[in-house]
Amino acid sequence: MPHCDNCNGHVSRRFQTVFSDEQGRLLACPSCSPNAGIAESSRDRTGGGSGD
Ligand SMILES: [Zn+2]
Repeated sequence: MPHCDNCNGHVSRRFQTVFSDEQGRLLACPSCSPNAGIAESSRDRTGGGSGD
């Protein structure tokens, strides 16, 4: 399982592929660096009103 070399936290393989450096090392992940996951956790719901 891929993991963050900074906090040793587990990350998805895709995340590692995208954010790892040339040596396959992850210097940050959403667990230890919120800014690292902006690409993945870009899910923001602006209180949609359920039409009822
Ligand atoms: Zn981390």
